[in-house]
Amino acid sequence: MISDSQVQFLEIFGDRNHKWESQEDILKLSRFYLYDQVKVLESALDVLDRSTTRIQCFDSKTKEGDIIRSFWKVPGTRRDSDNPYVCTETGCNCVRYSELARAADTMLTPFCKHRIACYLATALDLVDYIQISEEEFAQQLASSSVVGIESANNIGRNKFTRAHYS
Ligand SMILES: [Zn+2]
Repeated sequence: MISDSQVQFLEIFGDRNHKWESQEDILKLSRFYLYDQVKVLESALDVLDRSTTRIQCFDSKTKEGDIIRSFWKVPGTRRDSDNPYVCTETGCNCVRYSELARAADTMLTPFCKHRIACYLATALDLVDYIQISEEEFAQQLASSSVVGIESANNIGRNKFTRAHYS
C-alpha cells in the first residue's frame, strides 16, 4: 500500500517521454520516495533483473495517435510460469494485488511489485511498446481477469467515445 505522494512520484517514472540522466538517479529516487516500501521495491527490481523478456506495453490509440489506454505484460520470475502478469493503470491480476485491494484502506493505494516494475521499467527504458486495436485490447483484458479492471475499462471507453464522436 502506498500513499498519494508515492503514487504521484511513480507517475513521473511512468512518463515515457521523460529522459532520465542515469539509472543511478532512478534507483536513488525510488529508494528515497519508497523508503517504507523497500521490500516491494526490491522485488520489483528483481522482476526486472530476472526476467528473460522485457515488459511489453500494449497501447490502443485514436486515429490521431493519442493513447486511449494501456496495459502491461510483466514476465513472471519463476522458471515454471510462462504466463506473464497483466497490469493496467489501476490494477494487476496477481494474487498479492487482489489481497491488497481487499484490505480496504481508502487513504492508501494498493501496489504490487508488478505495477512498480512497470513504472521503473518505463523510467529505465526497459519496455517494448506495441500498438493494438481497441477490439484486441478488450479481448486481451477480458481473458486476464485483472482486479480493478472495471474502472479502467470505463475510463477508456469514455475517452474512446469522446475521441470518436465529439
Ligand atoms: Zn501484481
